[in-house]
Amino acid sequence: MPKARKQFGQHWLKSEKALNKIVSSAELTENDRVLEIGAGTGILTRQLIAQAQAVVAVEIDRDLCPILVQKFGKFENFLLLQGDFLTLEIDPLLEPFPPFQSPRKVVANIPYNITGPILEKLLGTIAAPNPNPFESIVLLLQKEVALRICANSNSSHYGALSIRVQYLADAEFICDVSAKAFSPPPKVDSAVIRLRPRAIEHPATDPKKLETLIKLGFSSRRKMLRNNLKSVVELEPLNALLQSLEINPQARAEDLSIRQWIDLSNAFSLDKLAHNIP
Ligand code: SAH
Repeated sequence: MPKARKQFGQHWLKSEKALNKIVSSAELTENDRVLEIGAGTGILTRQLIAQAQAVVAVEIDRDLCPILVQKFGKFENFLLLQGDFLTLEIDPLLEPFPPFQSPRKVVANIPYNITGPILEKLLGTIAAPNPNPFESIVLLLQKEVALRICANSNSSHYGALSIRVQYLADAEFICDVSAKAFSPPPKVDSAVIRLRPRAIEHPATDPKKLETLIKLGFSSRRKMLRNNLKSVVELEPLNALLQSLEINPQARAEDLSIRQWIDLSNAFSLDKLAHNIP
């Protein structure tokens, strides 16, 4: 087994149970084209090759690529792209390889240090959703982040990340994975989640404004929402607006469901609300 490199977030999965859970959650059929981010030494890749029509694996570590080619080069349904997933333009790279074009499912044990940017590349953002959404995305990631992604309002894990993801996708917590399932074990516990991007049910009329509101609203979790929004709106009109939306004026950001955030954003027509507030 090659020595794991910290800078690439390398932790090799060794638990069969966790591996099976990840693969079964992807519900692969022989018609699926799959994208794997961070193939590592290929423990997950091998299962994907066995179950999917085509597997595109991305791996940043140049030293691992020959190992992957040696293991899987013989399989016609395997294609390896060496590079940084965050900056690679995958679709153009796949143009010469029709059987691998536009994978619709993602299955990956991702490097935890770049979870946010990976999610953004896969899903897009509230203001700029991925125009070509994936059918499903199964990820093994840090448990704390998994809980935040999947949380509903009123949960202590609910926050801006829950809304950013669930605005664009259904999010399911699949299972816990203990640190012992890896070699070397990460310092944190892990979990598997499944995202299913879908049409936005109640679109915000100005998605940029919604993004700004969420950012401001959650800037201090202990404060009431209206205090977090004080810099952009006068108290009285905000109280009236919250009441008209049947939101308690004393609510905190975490008390508002995603639907209420969207309603609030759609009703918020104050010029003072500048975009791109830091
Ligand atoms: N899938 C393997 C490895 C998981 S560790 C397993 O389950 O055992 C995360 C993997 O992501 C490592 O192989 C690491 O080299 C790779 N990686 C880290 N940053 C990356 C990036 N920006 N783009 C692509 N791969 C990356």
